[in-house]
Amino acid sequence: MSGLTLEGVSKRFGSLTAVDNVTLNVPQGTFVCLLGPSGCGKTTLLRMIAGLEDPSGGRLLIDGADITGVATHQRDFGMVFQSLALFPHLNVGENIAYALRIRGIAKADQQRRVDELLALVHLPGHADRPVNKLSGGQRQRVAIARALAVSPKLFLLDEPLSALDAKLREAMQVELRQLQQKLGITTIVVTHDQREAMTMADLVVVMGEGHIRQAAPPVEIYRKPADSFVAGFIGSTNLLDLSRDSSGRAVVGGVVLPDVILPAGLDRARLSIRPEDVHLTAPTAGGLTGRVTFLRDLGGTIETFIEVAGTTVTAVSTPRERPDVTAGDSIGVTLPAEACVVLKQ
Ligand code: ATP
Repeated sequence: MSGLTLEGVSKRFGSLTAVDNVTLNVPQGTFVCLLGPSGCGKTTLLRMIAGLEDPSGGRLLIDGADITGVATHQRDFGMVFQSLALFPHLNVGENIAYALRIRGIAKADQQRRVDELLALVHLPGHADRPVNKLSGGQRQRVAIARALAVSPKLFLLDEPLSALDAKLREAMQVELRQLQQKLGITTIVVTHDQREAMTMADLVVVMGEGHIRQAAPPVEIYRKPADSFVAGFIGSTNLLDLSRDSSGRAVVGGVVLPDVILPAGLDRARLSIRPEDVHLTAPTAGGLTGRVTFLRDLGGTIETFIEVAGTTVTAVSTPRERPDVTAGDSIGVTLPAEACVVLKQ
């Protein structure tokens, strides 16, 4: 178990910069999710950490020791990739014991470790099963057990759950997180699924175009996104154009939000507010008013779409708070200051 430090790590493929000067400190025992849209450089960064790709610049350190030039097989990392790459001609136990066997571990110790790992991934007694007779979720667990066989310093996973159906994926997210907490192993997972990142991570690293846009705990990323890119990528949000009045207060749709202050020098900005934070009321004189365009009743929640200040704002309510409106009605829209995040445009 170890901590990882990335110092100015970059990767160029010809004229394309896939990873651009990434600096990150991952304390021992942290669960990190690298999150971002397709092509933002997540996999390339993970492959450099794994030693499968040489950085074009920068350094990688484990517990302060430089591992930049160290070969993959000498890094002692456990890896699970999207394809899983289980050996089809070996049974479950043989797959898990593979790394132990090539290290010359005694047969009885291999057996003990396989049983221990199968218990850990909730597959006791499955050692003799052929891998092609397993379900997707079971295969996933075998791949995880195999990667953990030699007690790796770092556990690296690239989209490990993407082949599973939605329900199983959610169950496996919880399982993976619980397993990681039990073992206390520093884990880095690449995903493009923000729910997955929110479920599992201590530290979410949002990447865009090869850069880290924000690295923070999930709730901080959700509540205090660093910019519009992060705000729009994590969960859904409303983004409204803001201007600044002479006292520095935010103005949206001609209405002053008295408790939302724009920093000096920032005359135009955007306001991010989550749908569950938008309060709907009867229209009030001088307050922000909009027109309901659509209501979507999802059973547990109701989404109200409102045209306001030149954009569409979504408000999410519970059935108990259900606004008594239909499409076409006017409605008061309250944006509580404590839920408003001011972002540079
Ligand atoms: P995805 O979620 O689609 O897997 P990603 O965020 O993991 O995307 P990367 O696979 O790291 O993105 O790719 C980042 C950029 O680097 C992309 O533009 C990709 O085309 C490019 N790239 C990746 N590997 C190579 C390579 N071996 N040669 C050339 N370009 C590459």
